[in-house]
Amino acid sequence: MEKSLDVSIVGAGIGGLTAALTLKKSGHNPTIYEKSKLLSELGAGVQLSPNANRVLKYLGIMEDLKKEIFEPEAFQFLNYRTGRVLAEHSLKKLSTQTYGFPNYDIHRADLQKVLLSAIEKAEIKLLKGFEITDVGKEKEKPYIKANEKKIISDVVIGADGIHSVIRKKLWGKDQARYTKNVAWRMLVPIEKISSNFLKPNTTVWLGPKKHFVQYFVKGGSYLNCVCLVEQDDWMSEGWSEKGDIFELKDLFSEWHPEIQEIIESTDPDSLFKWGLHDRPPMKKWRRGKFSLLGDAAHPMLPFVAQGAAMAIEDGAVLASSLSSFDNIELGLDDYENKRKPRTTKAQNTASRNATIFHLSDFFAFFRNLVMKFFIKKIMDDFYKYDATSK
Ligand SMILES: Cc1cc2nc3c(=O)[nH]c(=O)nc-3n(C[C@H](O)[C@H](O)[C@H](O)COP(=O)(O)OP(=O)(O)OC[C@H]3O[C@@H](n4cnc5c(N)ncnc54)[C@H](O)[C@@H]3O)c2cc1C
Repeated sequence: MEKSLDVSIVGAGIGGLTAALTLKKSGHNPTIYEKSKLLSELGAGVQLSPNANRVLKYLGIMEDLKKEIFEPEAFQFLNYRTGRVLAEHSLKKLSTQTYGFPNYDIHRADLQKVLLSAIEKAEIKLLKGFEITDVGKEKEKPYIKANEKKIISDVVIGADGIHSVIRKKLWGKDQARYTKNVAWRMLVPIEKISSNFLKPNTTVWLGPKKHFVQYFVKGGSYLNCVCLVEQDDWMSEGWSEKGDIFELKDLFSEWHPEIQEIIESTDPDSLFKWGLHDRPPMKKWRRGKFSLLGDAAHPMLPFVAQGAAMAIEDGAVLASSLSSFDNIELGLDDYENKRKPRTTKAQNTASRNATIFHLSDFFAFFRNLVMKFFIKKIMDDFYKYDATSK
């Protein structure tokens, strides 16, 4: 398409910011509407796999990103009690060689800082304090509404996360489901951890009904930890709440001494827990000249560490699809057709991992035997994909 489209993006998360950058790079005119007045990401980490880094490199922000990351040596699954290595995969040495791009761990606020700086450099409009509450159509053009103000554009993309208002307005109420998993998150300054047992890896400890993920962020000065625990109910009205350190200690009391040491070193005030929700894959994302992106379209459990990566890839494919067709609806359908099989696979893999990671006894024994083939297959499936050439 020769014409530059005015694209309204609802939500300035990792997905919305990346989509604005890819659209601008393809010659379109994106504007981002974000409900928060102050953009602040969670005090937590995110793993940026090679498939996500391919898009970030295409956007020309790799050098800025490199100042903020930690590059892990390897990915490891460990036994929760003994610390025995169940499976290991080299990342630093082999990631670029095998998948063309490195694997990084980063603090969310650092990734957001780099994306925001690129948004500013590209002179993309980002309007904060704009909570979109309604959508509609006027003279064949889609509009969104914030504070009674109607904003008309050529295309609207809902990148407004798992609670997406755009999704609800387009497709009706469909409640996200509680997955019976809670994520406890903490960020521990390295100097607080007295033992020097920590290895420069992305490590996942597997135990019955729980797993524990740890990796460095901020150049190695903090350890980011996520403790994933099965829990039948989620009582809180909200999606996150403060965690009780004594409850966490109790939950992991039978785990390896390294885990005990990390929990012991955690500032109780910095501990939060999330009830993890997801939704089954959607039948259709597009409605008229509206479509969805990132968690708004395909929320998933974090058990394959691909939610943000999928949102980043979505942006690259969306820009190229909209540029390849004169008709906006055909462009949005092309985007959806190219993305949905892959994001559905990520959603299903994450749900399946919820079972596999938390097996016990006999089943865990068999899982451990095949674990190394299992991670290689998952990495190949997700890391090789090139969203910039679709
Ligand atoms: C514990 C945990 C660990 C994870 N680890 C990883 C990982 O290692 N690697 C990975 O790739 N992924 C990971 N993920 C998944 C990843 O965090 C998400 O998939 C990703 O952040 C989704 O980005 P998004 O932009 O689609 O949505 P969001 O980040 O939710 O952004 C949505 C934005 O829209 C705004 N918004 C909402 N409603 C409105 C409205 N009505 N009007 C205007 N603005 C609105 C919100 O304020 C927000 O800024 C993890 C998730 C969890 C819970």
